[in-house]
Amino acid sequence: MPNNKEKVCIIGAGPAGLSCAMYLEKKGYTDYKIYEKLNKVGGKCWSPKMKVKHNGVEEERSFETGAIMGAITYHAVSEMEEFGGYYHKGPDFKEGEPNMRREFRKLDGTIDHPFEPKVNFSFKKTFGLLKLKKQMKKLNHLMQTKYYGYDCYGHIGVAKGEYFGISKGVDGYCGATKENSFPNYVKGTNPNLKDLALPFSEFCKINGVEEVQRIWIAPFTSFGYGFFDEIPAALVMKYLDVTTALEFVNMKLWTWQDGTQQIYVHVNEKLKHPAILETEVVKVERPEGKVLVTTRGKDGKEKTEEFDKLIVTTPLDYFINYADATKEEKELFSKIIHERYCDYIATFDEGKSPVISGYMVENMVPERLGHAMVYYNRWQCLGNDCPATVYALANHTGTPDVDFDVVMKTMDEDMKKVGFPIKEKHYAQEVYYCPHVSSEDYQNGWYDRLEALQGTKNTYYAGEIISFGDMEDTCAASKDIVGRFF
Ligand SMILES: Cc1cc2nc3c(=O)[nH]c(=O)nc-3n(C[C@H](O)[C@H](O)[C@H](O)COP(=O)(O)OP(=O)(O)OC[C@H]3O[C@@H](n4cnc5c(N)ncnc54)[C@H](O)[C@@H]3O)c2cc1C
Repeated sequence: MPNNKEKVCIIGAGPAGLSCAMYLEKKGYTDYKIYEKLNKVGGKCWSPKMKVKHNGVEEERSFETGAIMGAITYHAVSEMEEFGGYYHKGPDFKEGEPNMRREFRKLDGTIDHPFEPKVNFSFKKTFGLLKLKKQMKKLNHLMQTKYYGYDCYGHIGVAKGEYFGISKGVDGYCGATKENSFPNYVKGTNPNLKDLALPFSEFCKINGVEEVQRIWIAPFTSFGYGFFDEIPAALVMKYLDVTTALEFVNMKLWTWQDGTQQIYVHVNEKLKHPAILETEVVKVERPEGKVLVTTRGKDGKEKTEEFDKLIVTTPLDYFINYADATKEEKELFSKIIHERYCDYIATFDEGKSPVISGYMVENMVPERLGHAMVYYNRWQCLGNDCPATVYALANHTGTPDVDFDVVMKTMDEDMKKVGFPIKEKHYAQEVYYCPHVSSEDYQNGWYDRLEALQGTKNTYYAGEIISFGDMEDTCAASKDIVGRFF
């Protein structure tokens, strides 16, 4: 029986940690602490304000270094919005709101129209688009039939041909109401689901839908989630399930006026115990029945406290370095791979900034590692003087990593070549991104071993690794973990 009098420690105040606290409160837990090493909440949802000129007048606007968008399938994020009282804009944007428009730009600077049959008409293009449409329909059908059960959050049982979790469908609240947030789970057997352990490119091949990668690549690879020859199909399809992928195609997306970080700032303000900032968890010891957590505050002093339970929402491959990790934890968590996603917000030479976001599809291949894959224009009303965020990946399995400094320089050169010379870079960063395991480890039941570990030594694992590295999957993972174990 859950005991909501227990004292719980949560490591990390990103979307995962704060949603864990919210769901704990919904279950009546009041004795919890969230430790955050930085001086801000939101983790990779970081929305700094910058001074810009609008109609000749200086004003402050929010920009994004991390998460930007959501979609109709963002159910757990909706619960966070409701809790914090801060809501998204879109999918239909009004004047003065951030926008989600985008174009496709070739490396010679010209604009491409890969999905518009009438622009630059050719029979080859028309034939290609017809093939793509047919394969999209086929994939949609396969996911509803052959791969039934694929679209619940998390990976429990998939390697064994089973599914278990909270359903992600459009009506995916699965019975959750304002009064009772904890939904019914879906559960079943489907041996075909084992195919989802394959790299996405292979999964498409065995199903005769290779063309669909043209659609999936922009919101996947350019968003830093890796390349299709290395990432298990389960990760691709759980994040970009058919409904969500079509929302991207049809530009039916959400974004937040003051940035995604504000979702979490608002939630944090409403929590009974807001996150304790600038306090890093540096040691975890778990003698029989207890959890001892040592933190280091901004004064550099260390303090050890006793808890009943621990929720780790931070990278598990780092957790084993500061915790009394068991043999199984060490073995399992050292298999985690993460992407090295790099970005910066740029200001451009006067009148030379992009006026719409752009995908550079030619750079979304491992051979072009470290090159700019996408740039994000947030404020249409600022015209060609709007700062933009530029993004690149620095790693791919089987290709040497690219150094951060080289990535930065390469992105500058790319942007100049396509017509957007960078004046200054702001907030340049490389992030630990999209933790996952290889197809082989997936196939060998890595996620089921993780599930079996939940609760041992009073420790629970949440965050990006559970399902996928986006806001919705991480918040839904918190709902799942708190829902089942607390
Ligand atoms: C460039 C970029 C674009 C993105 N775009 C989108 C998007 O459009 N839509 C979307 O849904 N998602 C997007 N994401 C992904 C999304 O931001 C992440 O999936 C989400 O933030 C993960 O939440 P988390 O809480 O699991 O981890 P994090 O956000 O990484 O938070 C973890 C927190 O733990 C803290 N921490 C770590 N170690 C310790 C320790 N030892 N002690 C105390 N605190 C610690 C960290 O400082 C951090 O604040 C994007 C991310 C990036 C970087």
